[in-house]
Amino acid sequence: AASGEVIEVELQNGVVIIEGNNGVFMEPVRVLNSGYDMHDVKFERYYSRAFFTSVSMPSSGVTNEGSDTRKRKRKRVYNLNEKEVLAENRHQEVRSVILKAHEAFQATVAPSLRNYITFDGRDDCVPSPSKSCSSMQNLGIEEGEVNFVELAALWQAPLYEFSFSKGQVDCEEEESRTTPMFNTIIKSSSRTSEVAECGACKYLLPKSCTFLISDISEVHRLIPGDSKDGFNLMVIDPPWENKSVHRKSLYPTLPNKYLLSLPVKQLAHADGALVALWITNREKLRHFAETELFPAWGVKMAAVWYWLKVTVEGTMVSPLDLAHHKPYECLLLGYLPSKIGSTSEESVQFTGSREHADLPDKFVLISIPGDHSRKPPLKSLLSKHIPGQRHAERGLELFARELSAGWTSWGNEPLRFQHLNYFRER
Ligand code: SAM
Repeated sequence: AASGEVIEVELQNGVVIIEGNNGVFMEPVRVLNSGYDMHDVKFERYYSRAFFTSVSMPSSGVTNEGSDTRKRKRKRVYNLNEKEVLAENRHQEVRSVILKAHEAFQATVAPSLRNYITFDGRDDCVPSPSKSCSSMQNLGIEEGEVNFVELAALWQAPLYEFSFSKGQVDCEEEESRTTPMFNTIIKSSSRTSEVAECGACKYLLPKSCTFLISDISEVHRLIPGDSKDGFNLMVIDPPWENKSVHRKSLYPTLPNKYLLSLPVKQLAHADGALVALWITNREKLRHFAETELFPAWGVKMAAVWYWLKVTVEGTMVSPLDLAHHKPYECLLLGYLPSKIGSTSEESVQFTGSREHADLPDKFVLISIPGDHSRKPPLKSLLSKHIPGQRHAERGLELFARELSAGWTSWGNEPLRFQHLNYFRER
């Protein structure tokens, strides 16, 4: 009973530690809610209904359904090419870790899950579509919401502005309560969440957040003048070129060469930074990230975490051992060492990486996936592993689609999930 109570308390806070195993279960809505004081994220807007059906999946192995697709997939297992063999070997290395974490989760957390996530079907914050918003469709964007990617491409883009309901946002012009929407660093120093408006669209900003809506060509605006003001925790979820994203038109993708030029080193804090990079399950990508991207950014690999996706029933979203479709995604973690010497760009030197023994390897994060391929928020799990002498967390999310309290978020649509449609009043 005592451990049951502990799990219920932890579920209320959004993160349950999986006893005796290298992992946690996260309920992202509760984690995100801690950034707001008057609103909660709506379960029905965060989660995809697909994972709330009661269809259960076997936890491992290929299913014995007789469909042609399954037969084709099963056949391919016996004809693996070189890359597939490497991927399969990686999978075999972690499958027992994932299975153990999943078994512990099923025995402890899963039975209570349904009581903690409820769809009430209310959608009472949807504003009526306005002229300024209704033309922005495609990319899975709901009616009444802005498609920032399309808007940025219009000739009028420099004229679009946000206005703020309270006067606490630092705009470029001191007295003004409006600020350009694109290519401008917008900082809400408010200790409470507040609303930014653009036409009829309202966006909820979490406490003390900063954001920049721009193309990658403008990301350098975030580079601090002094590296002591840089970021010591960076989460990066690139728009990897990917057939599925392309087919579903989820968002524009970027060729790898653009990612090589991300100014990760220049954005980092003088005392170093923890960098977390989401990658898809393609072996080619993993190889590129480890051998080209991290070295180009000056990041030294430290650990790999696994995000295991489950349904509300606690089952994995797909069988664990299918060759081309895994129920987990990888997060590569590495450290940017501290900078020494002159602060001028050319002469910044990087020393060897410090030891960060407390960062666990093969750590399993279990959660029910969000709609639109949203990733679970990592802030609460990673902040205890930032380098340096007990520095305050200075977090940056690159390619963000949502804001985070106290963090800076950049991408071409970091307000995507901040529309008031996604929240309800507390
Ligand atoms: N982590 C996010 C989440 O959980 O919701 C998902 C990020 S998604 C994989 C990649 C994001 O990068 C998309 O929002 C996409 O529009 C954006 N993106 C694509 N091309 C970009 C560019 N050239 N400049 C800035 N952002 C870009």
